[in-house]
Order: sequence, then C-alpha cells, then structure tokens
Amino acid sequence: ALLVLIGSLGLLSGVICYRLLGRPASPRTQLQGALNAKQFEPFVQPIVNATDGRWSGVEVLMRWRLPGEGLIRPDLFIPMAEQTGLILPMTRDLMRQVAEALVPHATELPPHFHVGFNISAAHCNDPRLLDDCRDFLARFPPGSIELWLELTERQLIEPTEQTDLLFMQLDSIGVKVAIDDFGIGHASLNYLQRFKVDALKIDQSFIKRIGADTLSAHLLDTLVELATKLEIDLIAEGVETAAQRDYLRALHVRYLQGYFFGRPMPIGEFIHAHRHKRDTADHP
Ligand code: C2E
Ligand code: MG
Ligand code: MG
Ligand code: MG
Repeated sequence: ALLVLIGSLGLLSGVICYRLLGRPASPRTQLQGALNAKQFEPFVQPIVNATDGRWSGVEVLMRWRLPGEGLIRPDLFIPMAEQTGLILPMTRDLMRQVAEALVPHATELPPHFHVGFNISAAHCNDPRLLDDCRDFLARFPPGSIELWLELTERQLIEPTEQTDLLFMQLDSIGVKVAIDDFGIGHASLNYLQRFKVDALKIDQSFIKRIGADTLSAHLLDTLVELATKLEIDLIAEGVETAAQRDYLRALHVRYLQGYFFGRPMPIGEFIHAHRHKRDTADHP
C-alpha cells in the first residue's frame, strides 16, 4: 500500500508540475490551485434496492478534471488531499456542488433518497462537519433525501469523547453512517456502537470471491447474520455480475452497488438515466 501511495504521488506530481504548472510546486499548492479552479467535481454511482432493483440512492465519488489529462481517479489525489488537510475544503465544495445539482430534481427522486459522501479521518476532528451536514440537509425539501457519511475501515479512527459527541450529534440531525470497505480493515465491534453505525458496506474483495471458495461464503453468511442481529443495513460494493446479484439477493443483503447496475457518472447523466429507468420500469 505504501509503495502504491509513493508511486501515485510521484506520478501525480510529475503530471501536475509539468502539465499544469510548468514548474515544481508543492502538493498543497497544486491541490489548492485545482480547488480554486473548480477542477474537482462529483460523479455519482447508483445504490440499488436488492429486492426490486430500484435506485434508492447514490454514492458521491470525487473526480479531478485536469485540463489536458482528463479525469483523474481519487486514489491518485485523495491521499495527498488528506495529508495536506485540503480534503476538508474539497469535501465541503463537493457537498455544495451535489446539493446544487440535486435540489432541482429532489421531487422526482424516490423519497428518502440516499446521498452518500466519503469522509476521511480528519473530518472526525473538523468542527465544521456537523454544520456542513446541517446546511446540506436544509437545502432539500424535508424527507426527500437521507444524508449518509461513509467512513472507511482503511483508516483507523480512534474513538474519543469528542468523536462520540460528534456522531451523537450527527445521529440527532438524521445523518446516517456507513462503514466503508468493511471486512478488510480496523473496525471492531466497539466501533459499530460508538459511531452509531447504520450500515456496513461489504468490501468488493468479498463480492469478487463469491462462488470461488466456501470460506468466503461462510464469511458473507456470518456478516449478514451479524448485521441482522445488530439491525445494521448491508450494502454490497463491486457487484459486477448477475450471478453475484442473485447470490447477494438470496442472502437478503438489502442494497447493492457496482458496475452491473451502473458506473459512476456525472449528476446530469444520472438524472437522465433515472428518468429513463422510471419510465421504462427497467430494473435489472
Ligand atoms: P470507495 O468509497 O470504496 O468507492 C467505491 C469504488 O469502487 C469507486 O472507485 C467505484 O468507482 C468503484 N467501483 C464501483 N463499482 C465497482 C465495480 O463493480 N467493480 C469495480 N472494480 N469497482 C467498482 P473510485 O471512484 O475510483 O474511488 C476510489 C476510492 O477513493 C473510494 O473508494 C473512496 O475511498 C475514495 N474517494 C472517492 N471520492 C472521495 C471523496 O470525495 N472523499 C474521500 N475522502 N474519499 C473519496
Ligand atoms: Mg465509499
Ligand atoms: Mg446513526
Ligand atoms: Mg469501498
């Protein structure tokens, strides 16, 4: 993981220094410049209700539209954004963009439509996160959307009195919390309680192994059983085939997400696709 990180940082600074700035610049300067130039934009990927195939929400995935380079994937710049602290203003700007694009369509989306943002460990110490969430929700008609925060299991967040308070406050304004990449990282059962977790997103690696070995099958079964007992929802990530969908459906995993249902896309495209789907009742 470290090598990948170093590799991607090297690649990125090479690309950016040369193409964007023509001279060496610190990562902070590069990202700040991109933020000022409004080069970060939201893509959204549908989250599907497993029982009827309807789109019950989206996950927001950040993209960097770099002139001359096209779209840069988040793995290449999020780590640097996290290291420099710029992830905080970048996420705030992303939330603003998503609200602006979705509010005009709020009435044509199903009620309580999920909108999920990925947040980083640094957000848990950001005094503005609560207000940002409140502002986001206040822009939509009441009951039209549900705001979800995805907290990745890859980063260890030490639960403290401060985070307990934050997650209690988030809960009290109706914000939902999901643990992302569940099953591969640091989350403990203690976490689920302290962060008032509403859903687990089963990591893609488990979905990839469906049908491959019995141990994975048992792990998935156990995860479903655990989530059911704890009354926590499950979302399967990285569903690419009908066979995976059928398997997860039979297990009663409630929500599914993956290329099989739809790739991440710009919000305008999503709205069009959603209309088309609604009008043709085309639910895979
Ligand atoms: P993630 O939150 O686990 O998001 C899921 C990733 O899996 C996305 O990659 C998505 O495009 C990809 N994916 C979805 N369906 C499939 C599938 O069927 N097969 C495969 N192979 N992949 C699928 P993406 O957009 O490149 O994002 C990568 C990671 O970057 C995200 O993983 C998340 O951890 C991070 N990220 C993205 N946007 C943000 C953001 O706004 N803030 C933060 N802090 N992190 C972000
Ligand atoms: Mg996520
Ligand atoms: Mg909650
Ligand atoms: Mg994930």
